[in-house]
Amino acid sequence: MAILQYAYPMNLPNHEHFMDLALREADRAASAGEVPAGCIIINTAPHRDMPVGAVIGRAHNQTELLKDPTAHAEILAITQAASALGDWRLTDTILYVTKEPCPMCAGGIILGRIPTVVYGVPDPKRGGALSVFNILDHPNLNHRCEVITGVMEQQCRDILQSFFRERRTKHTPNPDGNQQTDTRNQND
Ligand SMILES: [Zn+2]
Repeated sequence: MAILQYAYPMNLPNHEHFMDLALREADRAASAGEVPAGCIIINTAPHRDMPVGAVIGRAHNQTELLKDPTAHAEILAITQAASALGDWRLTDTILYVTKEPCPMCAGGIILGRIPTVVYGVPDPKRGGALSVFNILDHPNLNHRCEVITGVMEQQCRDILQSFFRERRTKHTPNPDGNQQTDTRNQND
């Protein structure tokens, strides 16, 4: 599954530490009524005056706020990281995200040449990394990622489940007395 194309340059990162930062972003999304996914990108090689391990992208879902279907945590963080590095090639970075990237975000990760992706909880319905679409490790694409899964998986799952549970219970009965159901996908 995992294809290691790039060796870590020096200190091995503490994946739990950075996933915890991503979870804080997911919390901020939930508080704003957004699907709780959070993303952190760090740099893994000295760059200008930036130390190794510096956070160069930090975002949560903002699709509702921005009225933008592409405003997923990963895409926003990738844009920030590219701006911080002054380069669209994010070849010395690690991307942390609380849930498995969707196909769009997996595509962005490939286009940015991000070598390592760490995610918490898989998305068996429409995951774009490995679960449904194997975009991060596909032989027909010009870049493949090392993928590390299951980091703080339970916390990443809990925040999603509690968000959707709360959203379902908020719905009031319609005039027919039937409970309205939310048909939106759980992984916007
Ligand atoms: Zn996405």
